[in-house]
Amino acid sequence: MKKYVLPVLMLTVFETVAVVLWLTKDNLFYLFNFSYIGIAVSLGIFLYIRKNRYARRVVQLLVGLYMLVYLGLICNENMQIEGFWYYLFTGVFEAATIHYAVAKIFGPLLFGRGWCGYACWTAMVLDFLPYKVPAGPRKKIGWIRYITFAASLAFVGALFLTHTGNLERIMFWAFIIGNVLYYAAGIILAVLLKDNRAFCKYLCPITVFLKPMSYFALMRVKCDREKCVSCGKCKRVCPMDVDVTDNSRNRKNGTECILCMECVKNCPKNAL
Ligand code: SF4
Ligand code: SF4
Ligand code: SF4
Repeated sequence: MKKYVLPVLMLTVFETVAVVLWLTKDNLFYLFNFSYIGIAVSLGIFLYIRKNRYARRVVQLLVGLYMLVYLGLICNENMQIEGFWYYLFTGVFEAATIHYAVAKIFGPLLFGRGWCGYACWTAMVLDFLPYKVPAGPRKKIGWIRYITFAASLAFVGALFLTHTGNLERIMFWAFIIGNVLYYAAGIILAVLLKDNRAFCKYLCPITVFLKPMSYFALMRVKCDREKCVSCGKCKRVCPMDVDVTDNSRNRKNGTECILCMECVKNCPKNAL
């Protein structure tokens, strides 16, 4: 039973957040929302422990589709970074701001970039592409993420500064158009660079939050140097080019790890 401690712990963390937000905000939605995500994540970890090869994809689809279709399209909640700026500027601490606080700003201190491996609806689609392992070395164009980050902030800032009306409607359409653009850019980049995760590495504005916070992550893949035979398999299968054999926080591309566990599954010596 000891091996099932992690899914139970994860469910407990999410349920605690669900109940605290439900009671403090007096809104039943939070109980439903975080319970659903907690159950999906715990189910994924449970399936992973049971060695189910689709464990990560199950969580990714359960959470990603829920956020994209239910929260985004049905509830009209812009969960993209523009939505975060929008609710932040209006001073409303609602779903999008809470989502960013939990999944992308403070959550990574605990579970690193688990969001990117298990929940993001952009990567949910990109991971269907065939380039699971990057064909070439990483390009030095990660600075583009700061441009997309600044552009998202400038877009929402301009709406407020010009006192544009009907902002709720604009944000809904920004969500639709933003997602279409993200998917198009992600697919084109993936095909050009033969790398499913090229969008995550070079363009995604959310990594401006995710990378520094995940540097301090509690949950990390670590290498048992006693068992490791330096075969290099872990680095060859890593979609994010992480040097996982180095246990230091400064390891190469350390803040890129999405906890996908491909390295762990492929290590012939169970060193990870
Ligand atoms: S880097 Fe961005 S697009 Fe990629 S999985 Fe993370 S949040 Fe999603
Ligand atoms: S796959 Fe395992 S044994 Fe090989 S280098 Fe990586 S950690 Fe070491
Ligand atoms: S393969 Fe390992 S090091 Fe690379 S992203 Fe996945 S979990 Fe992280």
